[in-house]
Amino acid sequence: MTEKPNIVFIMADDHASKAISAYNAGINKTPNIDRLALEGMRLNHCYVTNSICTPSRAAILTGTYNHVNCVTTLETPLNNRLPNVAKHLQNNGYQTAIIGKWHLGEGKEYEPSGFDFWSVLPGQGDYFDPHFLEMGDEIEVEGYATDIITNKSIDWLKSRDQSKPFFLMCHHKAPHREWEPNPKYRDIFTDDIAVPDTFNDDYKNRAKAAAAAKMRIKQDITYDDLGLVQPEGGSEVGERARPKSNRRKIPNPSDVSEIRLIDKHTGEVFQFTTPEELHNFKYQRYIKRYLATIASIDDSVGEILQFLDDNNLTKNTIVIYTSDQGFFIGEHGWFDKRFIYEESFQMPFLVRYPAQITPGQVNNDICCNVDFAPTFLDYTGTVIPSYMQGASLRPLFENKTPENWSQTAYHRYWMHKDPDHNAFAHYGIRNQRYKLIYWYNEGFDLPGTNEGGEDKEWELFDCHEDPMELFNIYDKPSHQNVVLEMTRLLEQKMLSIGDQIEHQRLK
Ligand code: CA
Repeated sequence: MTEKPNIVFIMADDHASKAISAYNAGINKTPNIDRLALEGMRLNHCYVTNSICTPSRAAILTGTYNHVNCVTTLETPLNNRLPNVAKHLQNNGYQTAIIGKWHLGEGKEYEPSGFDFWSVLPGQGDYFDPHFLEMGDEIEVEGYATDIITNKSIDWLKSRDQSKPFFLMCHHKAPHREWEPNPKYRDIFTDDIAVPDTFNDDYKNRAKAAAAAKMRIKQDITYDDLGLVQPEGGSEVGERARPKSNRRKIPNPSDVSEIRLIDKHTGEVFQFTTPEELHNFKYQRYIKRYLATIASIDDSVGEILQFLDDNNLTKNTIVIYTSDQGFFIGEHGWFDKRFIYEESFQMPFLVRYPAQITPGQVNNDICCNVDFAPTFLDYTGTVIPSYMQGASLRPLFENKTPENWSQTAYHRYWMHKDPDHNAFAHYGIRNQRYKLIYWYNEGFDLPGTNEGGEDKEWELFDCHEDPMELFNIYDKPSHQNVVLEMTRLLEQKMLSIGDQIEHQRLK
């Protein structure tokens, strides 16, 4: 009888694949995360079904879409009586743990279930000296969140019952906003980082949602996001200083001589002579902080892989590195996520399993975070329950993608016009060539959403010809057959997973 594999699932929060060197972006180096690609497989087309934290996490745990698990927004917690992948693994003799970010609700009804050990951050958690909810108790731990989550994960691995296989979910808080690096990494990026080609996007030739979104680095990023204080708040400086929270947006005036920004740690003062200078400063500050938090995550992955090596666990352990969704790192001028547009829709996904996955593979099949739970169950010889809506990725990992693999990913974002980001509600589908999006623009009175009132709009993008998604070709006469085909595909998908169709259906 073969030994059941262990699973270490490492998930970051908001880590764009372009900020992983194994994805060839070239803006940073992540040698430890890259080890998984070298020794295993990189997926290029893994997608999230709803590009925000809470719903993605619910989809991963339950293997279901958000209209089924009811976690449609950031304000809709996961009822812990629902079955989830950890419960199934537990029933099959696995020892289970979740450490780090949870963000699926708090209190008896919403705390982690199915885990023998859990130690999770309340809400978003803090970067420094974070509190944890650990098996029902609240504790404070001194230090930097990423390092603490790493240590707790390794401690759990050390103290586990060695007679049982294990399933560990190590969920980092970083690189989530407000991108606070470990002080030792604060200044690791000295040279300017190239601004993405679409940084100065004019949002023409697209649905109104793109121009309406309040996610622009130039005008929507806050003092806290960039580790800055205003002149009147500049007294609190120093290594461990915690100046008062300042979620105010940094102004973007045409006369930039009014702006004076102060580094909250060093007290350094920044002034500008042109708007371009200010915009570049905001971008550089943003991307360098973001990447510096990722440096700690890369260390974490290195430490966990080292532990597996040192304890003869490497061969029989499936290690996954992913993020709860993608992220805009300056593309279209944005930070944040939420949209089905490629940067936030695509999840990084690397998997290593020396016993069964050939090293150095790259896979281009389309898959989704709803597929993760069935994958874990498949590899561990656990029955995949009928309620799960995803499919095991095992054939993809083994280079045996079935002929009838769907090659489509479905996305639905429900939080219409949330006050912070003003992103519009939409759903859509992507296949290997095209992406169809319907902006239905209604909040359905869900918590955290506003009313509708916007026009409905469609978008179609050619993912090969227009990978940056700058030209909506939905109304092009030459593409009406594609529109029809993609609409049919979208409807088939929505009917098969039981989601509610908001557009007028094809006859
Ligand atoms: Ca997230």
